[in-house]
Amino acid sequence: MYKIIEDQVLTKTAPAAVRAEFVQHEFERLHRFSVLIFATSTCMWLVFDLIVSFLGGQGFTWRSMVFLLMFSILTVVLGFTRKARHFDGLTVLFVLGLAVGVRLIVYGVPDIIQSSWLVLAAASMLYSISVLPLSRVAFFLVQLIIWVLLNPFINTSISLFELRGVMTACYSVFLCVLTIYTFLKLREAKLYNYIMARLLLDQAYNDPLTEIPNRRSFMTVAEKHLHTAPHAHDHYLLMIDIDNFKKVNDTFGHDVGDEVLKRVAADIKAVMIAHDFARLGGEEFAIYLADVSREEAETLAGELCRRVREEPTKHPVTISIGVARVEHDDTLTQALIKADEALYESKHTGKDRYTFHHWPTDRPKR
Ligand code: GH3
Ligand code: MG
Ligand code: MG
Repeated sequence: MYKIIEDQVLTKTAPAAVRAEFVQHEFERLHRFSVLIFATSTCMWLVFDLIVSFLGGQGFTWRSMVFLLMFSILTVVLGFTRKARHFDGLTVLFVLGLAVGVRLIVYGVPDIIQSSWLVLAAASMLYSISVLPLSRVAFFLVQLIIWVLLNPFINTSISLFELRGVMTACYSVFLCVLTIYTFLKLREAKLYNYIMARLLLDQAYNDPLTEIPNRRSFMTVAEKHLHTAPHAHDHYLLMIDIDNFKKVNDTFGHDVGDEVLKRVAADIKAVMIAHDFARLGGEEFAIYLADVSREEAETLAGELCRRVREEPTKHPVTISIGVARVEHDDTLTQALIKADEALYESKHTGKDRYTFHHWPTDRPKR
């Protein structure tokens, strides 16, 4: 069964929006790793620069200082970068600078080993970029930069028509193909995992009938809200139950009942768009109002009752709501019980209304 579902997912090509989301997700996951690669590359370049410069009797030159400054600035900027496409740009600049910097260092080593060092530098850079969260365009651009600036046949003593040259060319082609293949395959595997994970999370946290979040999702989100202290106002938890819903099912059938459920869910979504809501199960829904005043909670509950009641439809229904203010020391279960008690009160005072929990002076309202 899993194989059939997997195959079905794999046959669909990921839309451009999902791919863009994936690139951003990958970048966020590998952000620190990318900073580490930038910093390590800078250190490696500096060590080689110092060795070659000091052996050549030049010491630390102003040119080395300019390169070092540029690499450091790009690394620091990357530390503050949050967008994947900005990372693409930074990497292209970094590789451009690094390739020029490496080429200049290589001019300082004996002719005979220059090409080997160029290939070695290209290999290290190609390997690093093949595991970085780059877009395909940026990856191929960086490949091009590396092969143009670190080409072992440009400005070196090596020729393609000698044994050393043929071996260097073969190794360079192998390196190029290997890193391109690694990058594309890794990307494909990660994209596939990303799509699968999204699909599974979607199914685990959304209600398939009403297409709004389900109980599991609500419990997770509400639990998170519960542990963040309210800012200016309070938190309220609303429990909603459709009135006389059994009668809708019995009179018009289960399909009409399902349509009513979808309609009420759509009304909840429309009124509570700025808040967290879910279908808890059956014809019961819950809403978490974080950081709202009592007046706002009242307005929203009243607006929802009115919207469901006045919906122009062949099968009108009404809803009852129980509202509980979430106290600082309440657990989620305690808050749900309080909202449920208030809902019970709404049901027993005529339905189609909302009631606040534990407000002795309050009367249920419509
Ligand atoms: P009350 O006003 O007191 O809430 O009365 P009620 O008739 O709504 O009673 P209750 O809340 O117990 O009704 C729940 C009904 O919801 C029973 C069940 O058949 C129906 N139901 C639960 N899940 C679904 C569903 O997914 N689709 C449909 N069509 N009906 C469902
Ligand atoms: Mg019920
Ligand atoms: Mg009901």
